Amino acid sequence: MKFSVVTLGCKVNQFESRAMAAILQERGHELVAEGPADAYIINTCTVTAESSRKSRQAVRRAMSENPLAVTAVCGCWSQISPEEAKKLGADIVFGSSDRLELVNAVERTFSERLAVRRVDDPMSRRIFEELPAGSGVGRTRAMLKVQDGCQNFCSYCIIPYARGPVRSMTPEKAVSEAMRLAREGYRELVITGIEISSYGRDLGSPDLTGLVESICLAAPEMRIRLGSLEPRTITREFCERLSALKNLCPHFHLSLQSGSDAVLKRMGRRYRTGDFFSSLGILRHYFPNCGITTDLIVGFPGESEAEFEETLEFLKKCAFSAAHVFPYSKRPGTKAAAMENQLPRSVKKERAARASALALSLKEDFLRAQEGIETDIFVEKSENGFIHGFTGNYCEVRAAGEAPRNAFCRVRITGVCKDYLEGEAL
Ligand code: SF4
Repeated sequence: MKFSVVTLGCKVNQFESRAMAAILQERGHELVAEGPADAYIINTCTVTAESSRKSRQAVRRAMSENPLAVTAVCGCWSQISPEEAKKLGADIVFGSSDRLELVNAVERTFSERLAVRRVDDPMSRRIFEELPAGSGVGRTRAMLKVQDGCQNFCSYCIIPYARGPVRSMTPEKAVSEAMRLAREGYRELVITGIEISSYGRDLGSPDLTGLVESICLAAPEMRIRLGSLEPRTITREFCERLSALKNLCPHFHLSLQSGSDAVLKRMGRRYRTGDFFSSLGILRHYFPNCGITTDLIVGFPGESEAEFEETLEFLKKCAFSAAHVFPYSKRPGTKAAAMENQLPRSVKKERAARASALALSLKEDFLRAQEGIETDIFVEKSENGFIHGFTGNYCEVRAAGEAPRNAFCRVRITGVCKDYLEGEAL
């Protein structure tokens, strides 16, 4: 069977897609990147209205590419809107769990052409679904999903309804998976999850620090990058222990969402700007020149011009190395969708443009500060006398020189071009 996997949304989805592809490949099926396939797995996302739209579009596209193919839809969008997925005509509709079952259903349906329908209740999930970390096609960076679910219920977010409560992979399993990926030749690993700051709370031992230490020490040949963290995780102890690890990337992603305390409160976020700023101070003390990236939602219900300007001021103060800006998108079923004072599209768009322009100028400042330094990049591409890759603090580099792919190369940073660094291989 030729199969294709289409992935929308976050790193967790990417991880799960690779895992499903790896299972099918192991069973002798062929993963195709282009052209008609016999089966399509569309791993959807619903974090914004736009991601739901793209998810629907991907399902339609697969069905038009090969109307006779098995179309299987899974992920957060089909978890929340299974009826819609069925109406589009998908053969198999799963939600955001039971990936192994889905793979089996694809195989079964391919031979039997039976329609399968299955969506569970995410709130009743208690067990972490273990999937082998898949390799994908031609990838150099591996991902390891160590946690699923979230029970923070931020007022704008649909994820807790789509993914259910926190479930974690055991540290032993995570370490053995990391070692396996290192043996397979991976040299960069991203530790990911829906909300990794809550890692281990279901296991009775919430110890993300211990997990990161164990993985870094067990796989010293790999560079380890962390997924998104909550400010509450950034304590002196966390940073002191992690800064002793030679192979942990000095890059941290903390989703700010708003720089106004009043908006953070309405968003149901559990920190205020003061807490957030202290976290950055601790990080920068232990990891000088670390990259700190963030996400921002602008145009949240009731966000006044003054609150938005507070956010811009706070962004500048935080000096992020990159910020992804999203205009607020109403997700039916969340508290924020029912709030009064929803802002017009034009206001959200205009604020997103202003915040993105500021984010870009902060990124430029951070890139300029890298000029003249010598650092290692992980080479993801090597062609026409140039190598491309990322630094540990997550700046993209294009450097003159030759070096093998999927390995580290020392470079000197010589300048900045648009939103990446230029350099030379040493
Ligand atoms: S922490 Fe908040 S924004 Fe993140 S997944 Fe959980 S509810 Fe959504």
